[in-house]
Amino acid sequence: MSRDIQIAGLQKVSLIDYPGKICATVFLAGCNLRCPFCHNASLVLPERERAAISEDELFEFLTRRLGLLDGVCVTGGEPLSSPGALRLLGKIRGMGYAVKLDTNGTFPERLSAAIGGGLVDYIAMDIKNSLRKYPETTGTADFDIGNIIESADAVMSSGVDYEFRTTVVKELHTLDDISQIGVWLSGAEKYCLQAFCDSGDLIQSGFHGVTAGEMEMFAETARRHFKHVCIRGID
Ligand code: SF4
Repeated sequence: MSRDIQIAGLQKVSLIDYPGKICATVFLAGCNLRCPFCHNASLVLPERERAAISEDELFEFLTRRLGLLDGVCVTGGEPLSSPGALRLLGKIRGMGYAVKLDTNGTFPERLSAAIGGGLVDYIAMDIKNSLRKYPETTGTADFDIGNIIESADAVMSSGVDYEFRTTVVKELHTLDDISQIGVWLSGAEKYCLQAFCDSGDLIQSGFHGVTAGEMEMFAETARRHFKHVCIRGID
C-alpha cells in the first residue's frame, strides 16, 4: 500500500455525497485542522485512527463498479493534507469516473493543481465561518486566513462545478457571520447550509444544531448574496 495516502474508509454507494450522481465515497485519513464540532474525529485524530483499506482494494472495487457508478467523492479528514492526494484523484479520474473533491480550503496550491490538471469535476469547499472566526471555529489559533481566501478565489474562477458550504453550529454561527460570508463570497453559484448533528464521533462535545426556523433565517440571509442556497440535514 502506498504511504502517501491512507484510505480510512469506503462507502460503496451514496446518493447524497455527489449532487446528481450515484457515487462511491472514499475517506482519506488526516486533517490539519481541529474543528471542535468535527463529526469525523476518528479520521482526524491519530489516537482514534480507523483501520485502513489498501489502495489495491479500492481500485479493485472501482474497477468492478465501472459503468455502475457515475462518480467518486474523495473526502476526509482533509484529502489535500495527504501528499498523494493529487495522484489518487488523477488515478480515479483516469478510470473515467467523475471526481468530486471535498476540501477545507487550506491547501490552495494543491487545490489549484487539481483544478489545473483537470483532476476534479466538482469541488465542495467548506466555509467554516466568517473570516474573523476561523481560528475559533477550526480549533487553530495561528490560522492562515490567506489560504482560505486564495482557495475560494481559485474555486470561483475554476470553471469547475462547485459549492461552498457551512455546517451551522448553534454555539459558533450567528446571522451576522452568514451575512459576512455572503459579502465575502458574493456572486458564488451555490451555497449550502448544513445542519450540525452529533455523530457520536466528535472532537469535542457541547455543540448543538439550530432549529428548522433558525436555519431558514440563516438561509434568508444567505439568499441576499448567493444565486442558489440550499439547506441540508433539516427535515
Ligand atoms: S470538520 Fe473537516 S476540516 Fe474540520 S477537523 Fe473535521 S475533517 Fe478537518
